[in-house]
Amino acid sequence: MAPMISTSLLPPDAVGLSRAAQILRAGGLVAFPTETVYGLGADARDDLAVARIFEAKGRPRFNPLIVHVANVETARRYVEWNEAAEALATEFWPGPLTLVLSLRADAGLSPLVTAGLPSLAIRVPAHPVARELLTVFDGPVAAPSANPSGKISPTSAAHVQAGLSGRIEGIVDGGFCGVGLESTIVGLTRAPCLLRPGGLPAEEVEAVLGVPLLTHDDGEINAPGQLSSHYAPGAQVRLDAKDKHPGERLLGFGPVAGADMNLSPAGDLTEAAANLFAMLHAIDDGQSPIAVSPVPEEGLGRAINDRLRRAAAPRD
Ligand code: AMP
Ligand code: MG
Repeated sequence: MAPMISTSLLPPDAVGLSRAAQILRAGGLVAFPTETVYGLGADARDDLAVARIFEAKGRPRFNPLIVHVANVETARRYVEWNEAAEALATEFWPGPLTLVLSLRADAGLSPLVTAGLPSLAIRVPAHPVARELLTVFDGPVAAPSANPSGKISPTSAAHVQAGLSGRIEGIVDGGFCGVGLESTIVGLTRAPCLLRPGGLPAEEVEAVLGVPLLTHDDGEINAPGQLSSHYAPGAQVRLDAKDKHPGERLLGFGPVAGADMNLSPAGDLTEAAANLFAMLHAIDDGQSPIAVSPVPEEGLGRAINDRLRRAAAPRD
């Protein structure tokens, strides 16, 4: 368990927002109001900061996060923009619509944000405080809802305090936010599909696109639940490896000998989470079996092990 830290309640004015941006730049976590719910923000380029989101929320798995940016121009730096994106952004941004598009090769975001996927969920929120914070910070902010995993999404700073006090550096108090409905998520990497219904009615999206949205049932898309097989390494993976067999590559954790790469030589789970996706990718030559040292099943270790078990599961 991470040590308790002091959580500052920040006003939604110039002083509070510049402090919030400073916390984000230093790799800290700041909760802020959006028009949907309060988000728990971290610099989306910073592996450790993003790992801390999962730790603070106590999330048992690494699902991909939505990146929040100040405007369309900034969004285009991170994703392969297309006509459908342009049409929807022109109509609905800023607003409760998240677009999933192909991640740009030069995006420079932490792979933990996309859970290793080649696509990115991105949106421009409409809440004035969120927009101002994103403008002052001037960078991409990964932000799931600011509640402990499994608890109700927060619509006030007091809700966030109740759930996450002592685990995050700051909360920008912007009062109650909107309706508490999450953003509508539309996938645009292929034929447009509805990945999650939310604050913006699907009919309005369809009216702009001029085509009906596919849904999970159409079997067209990479629904989050299917991410596992999608991102398995090419090579066999052996978990809980106490040693390295001949021909294997060892992905270590803690002070183990002979590791080809090490998630955290010091045995730090936050560091290990921050390194997980990049190292799984880097150690995989598609051929040599990969052995992974035991990772304790506690705190972030649960999400790390969940991801490793998926990587090790038999393939079709
Ligand atoms: P939230 O919990 O509101 O941050 O929403 C995150 C959700 O967005 C995830 O659980 C996914 O359902 C969806 N999502 C994020 N990134 C992607 C992606 N690259 N591809 C598909 N769905 C995504
Ligand atoms: Mg949530």
